[in-house]
Amino acid sequence: MPRTSVVTGAASGIGKATKELLEERGERVIGVDLHDAEVMADLSSPDGREALVDAVRKVSGGRVDAVYAVAGLALAAPATVAVNFFGTVASVAGLRPLLKESESPRAVVVSSMAALMASDDELVALLAAGDEQAALARAEVLAKEPATGGLIYASTKLALSRWVRRQSATGDWAGAGIPLNAVAPGIIATPMTADLIDTEQERESLLQVVPMPLNGIAEPIVVARLLAWLNSTENTHLCGQIVYVDGGSDAVLRGDSVW
Ligand code: NAD
Repeated sequence: MPRTSVVTGAASGIGKATKELLEERGERVIGVDLHDAEVMADLSSPDGREALVDAVRKVSGGRVDAVYAVAGLALAAPATVAVNFFGTVASVAGLRPLLKESESPRAVVVSSMAALMASDDELVALLAAGDEQAALARAEVLAKEPATGGLIYASTKLALSRWVRRQSATGDWAGAGIPLNAVAPGIIATPMTADLIDTEQERESLLQVVPMPLNGIAEPIVVARLLAWLNSTENTHLCGQIVYVDGGSDAVLRGDSVW
């Protein structure tokens, strides 16, 4: 039986590349997005997240082998908090009962190397507490100034990486035989970054901030291949890892400080 996978953000960029790769490999993929997907759901709202789980339950017949939570936003706005953190967590946690029906369930989320950049402590703490109302209110305040608006995206990805670290080894995930991991891409050429890497000059100045000594800016298929492996049956013991697929940004920026 082919594996059935759910990919959020499947209409564009990394999600689209992941869906196409899995389909090429013979998997059945249920794409989720705002448009151009098997399941149309808005992950920015609690109703949309519930609709995602209901629709996937119906379309899949009640069993899902792998969840890829890829959908995300990079706006200096509260919606980024709603989608990147609460939408992502709800996608993997909401589909966990369907994963439990699989013989080899897997889940992966997409964080970012941006988690290494400046973030807002208050927003990160509210995300860790799972307080969506207060987190949205904090993001509303941060969004008022460009200098603080830029902290929103990094804060959502930092909180998401920590969520994976905290959840992955618990009874809900490792204890239920479900590897839960994250990838943290560097700069990937997708519609999300198109305006930032349009010219050689823009690319060079972005690479000053996000150094990618190994092969520079990457195509979405690079991330898709790693995601596909993390959620494959070959992965039996990788648990709670944030795997940087960033051409070396993490190694340059953090050096050996994490060891
Ligand atoms: P993208 O804009 O090409 O694709 C994102 C997809 O998410 C879109 O199809 C969009 O419709 C969907 N989406 C957005 N809001 C949604 C909502 N409310 N409900 C449902 N779907 C929604 O971007 P991408 O570059 O492919 O990004 C994919 C993921 O990778 C994101 O989580 C992003 O933060 C992360 N990421 C991207 C980069 C990069 O350089 N492109 C780097 C690190 C991390």
